[in-house]
Amino acid sequence: MTRANARALFQRLAAMIPEPQTELYYKDPFTLTVAVALSAQATDEGVNKATKQLFAVADTPQAMVALGENKLGDYIKTIGLWRNKAKNVIGLSQMLLADYDGAVPQTRDALERLPGVGRKTANVVMNVAFGAETIAVDTHIFRVSNRTGLAPGKNPLEVEAGLEKITPPEFKRHAHHWLILHGRYVCKARNPDCGACSIVNLCLYKDKVFNSDARKPAKPKRKMASAPKLKSALPKRKTKRKAPA
Ligand code: SF4
Repeated sequence: MTRANARALFQRLAAMIPEPQTELYYKDPFTLTVAVALSAQATDEGVNKATKQLFAVADTPQAMVALGENKLGDYIKTIGLWRNKAKNVIGLSQMLLADYDGAVPQTRDALERLPGVGRKTANVVMNVAFGAETIAVDTHIFRVSNRTGLAPGKNPLEVEAGLEKITPPEFKRHAHHWLILHGRYVCKARNPDCGACSIVNLCLYKDKVFNSDARKPAKPKRKMASAPKLKSALPKRKTKRKAPA
């Protein structure tokens, strides 16, 4: 993708959501670090359900260590890989207390030393909690970057490097969230909604899907979810539309 088109892509995503936010529930850098560490291979929704109760009883490293691994496990059992994640959350809480007076460090090196915190988690924490212009590559960003041709790459590190290079400076702060939200709600893994996509004429994906129901048996529920507003806004006699081929 050309630099001019990359700029246009971010301009359009930014126009739709000027101030994008993480969908993870958190209160401060510590709870954000825990929430992001728990979100690996889990949905934000699933993590939020668990953390709303967890953070009501333990929202500091001290309280988390006092809660202990077993009780913490009870709060996060609905999240995949919870045993390992419970161990890591206790481990990172202990390290924060021992090495950083209970505060979350702001540098990548220090963050990545914490148990359960990898490059992606460190990037999210630096971006969301501390305002750094980092771009964390998750499954949505990986897919959108490859499909659109914005930053193709075989692995997250390659995609991150490509995004660092092609993202105009004024969009770096929020690029991560714009691309995640676009991947989560429009450029979905199985049925990208190319017909409703604001960057369709910039996207280089060869297999665009303009009627996402055309590839599978009709699912009235899905159609009803996306069409009612449009239908009700039209005069009745005009609602009769040509059936998709
Ligand atoms: S046109 Fe389709 S494939 Fe391209 S970004 Fe939009 S939804 Fe994704």
